[in-house]
Amino acid sequence: MSSLAGRRIDAADETQLLHTIDRWLEKEIRPVVKQYDHADLYPTPIVEQMKELGLFGATIGTEYGGLGLPAATYAKLVMRISSVWMAITGIFNSHLMLALAIEKFGTPAQRQAWLPKMATGEVRGGLALTEPDAGTDLQGIRMTARADGDGYVINGTKTWISNGIEGSCFALLVKTDPRAEPRYKGMSLFIAPKQQGFRVGRKLEKLGYKSIDSAELVFEDYRLSREHLIGGVEGQGFFQATGGLELGRINVAARGVGIAEGALRLSTEYAQVRKTFGKPICEHQAIQLKLGEMATRARAARLLTLDAAEAFDRGERCDLEAGMAKYFSSEAALENSTEALRIHGAYGYSKEYDVERMYRDAPLMCIGEGTNEMQRIIISKQWIKRNSIA
Ligand SMILES: Cc1cc2nc3c(=O)[nH]c(=O)nc-3n(C[C@H](O)[C@H](O)[C@H](O)COP(=O)(O)OP(=O)(O)OC[C@H]3O[C@@H](n4cnc5c(N)ncnc54)[C@H](O)[C@@H]3O)c2cc1C
Repeated sequence: MSSLAGRRIDAADETQLLHTIDRWLEKEIRPVVKQYDHADLYPTPIVEQMKELGLFGATIGTEYGGLGLPAATYAKLVMRISSVWMAITGIFNSHLMLALAIEKFGTPAQRQAWLPKMATGEVRGGLALTEPDAGTDLQGIRMTARADGDGYVINGTKTWISNGIEGSCFALLVKTDPRAEPRYKGMSLFIAPKQQGFRVGRKLEKLGYKSIDSAELVFEDYRLSREHLIGGVEGQGFFQATGGLELGRINVAARGVGIAEGALRLSTEYAQVRKTFGKPICEHQAIQLKLGEMATRARAARLLTLDAAEAFDRGERCDLEAGMAKYFSSEAALENSTEALRIHGAYGYSKEYDVERMYRDAPLMCIGEGTNEMQRIIISKQWIKRNSIA
């Protein structure tokens, strides 16, 4: 079984890759981000460029045609993109979480069948876990897969699924034994391509995170063969679905760092240009206090995230580190984007400036990959376990 942990890339390759990303952001993304975001338009030409850059295979193993990036390099890449436009990282990240589930837990045949097409972006998708009545309490899902002949018949509804409209394949969490106790023992994860019985219910309208599609997905007598059951064994779904959480949390943390740093950069520039009472506002102490806090938060968020990613790359258990990074960086994104809005005065409230988008995008970081309420509880439990005096 191939694993992301332990993959290496030399410093020169990493520098070159990040340089390529920087040039792409300046040339292709920064000039069009407001246009797409305000129209809530799926950025099809940008998705084609992301395919060429190899982003859909960023963390997929090189043996399957991916870039095989270690988590630390991937986090730096996500930070850079998110500092310009966070939402587009969701287009390849949710997809990479699907690929990770197959790479980590799939059979050799499943890896060979799906990963090469996912690495090129020919097949794109995401994770379909959440249901209208079950988000945090994932074991409370109601979608069932009933054994039928040599396959399964699936019924139920998923909601809030990223890439739900534009994607063509999803990791679908279901109950194969709804009566199992404990509940997780009755859960299984399937590779679910769009075909008869699988339809988009509706597109969900959101505060921010525009242009990437979030959708309700409806499954009615949707049939899948046994070959689609990840790993080929029932009852493993809960662990498979949550098995990518460390990397998922490092990714959300990196997105938070990007927003926190992006908001800081725009505020730093604006505060030196905007004058009141005869001097740039960065010379007023009230603004200096804000910039000082923002810069410290952004740096701390970056260091926590890289610390978690490097532990992941060393193959160490890093649920505590990834949880801390996700919690702190997402709150840093929320606070820095709010402060950026204040520093920009009325212009922060204007759609002509980028900080209003950051202000709308940041709260999602506090919800995704485990809400920050749950995150603090998880951190605390892990902390006590690692520091037990028993
Ligand atoms: C833009 C967007 C994209 C998303 N993309 C995806 C996706 O691609 N795939 C997918 O499967 N899901 C996706 N989600 C869903 C997301 O994972 C869930 O929203 C999240 O897990 C929280 O679930 P919930 O919204 O049902 O909140 P609930 O679970 O109902 O929680 C409500 C509140 O109660 C708190 N809470 C719940 N339980 C506890 C507890 N035990 N202790 C303390 N506090 C608690 C929560 O922190 C929260 O504040 C997405 C959501 C959004 C908004």
